[in-house]
Amino acid sequence: MPDAMQRQKEKLNRVYVCTKCSGMFLFNSDVQDHREFFGHLETYEIPLN
Ligand SMILES: [Zn+2]
Repeated sequence: MPDAMQRQKEKLNRVYVCTKCSGMFLFNSDVQDHREFFGHLETYEIPLN
């Protein structure tokens, strides 16, 4: 299954924000990539209503 299709199945009920660079991420997989590439380990979540 293509990665894009898997992502569409994820619920977009929150966004992740990096505390180091304020980068915003919709998917936890993007957060994981960001941690690996940039070494920014701390993020917080903002609920979307
Ligand atoms: Zn960052």
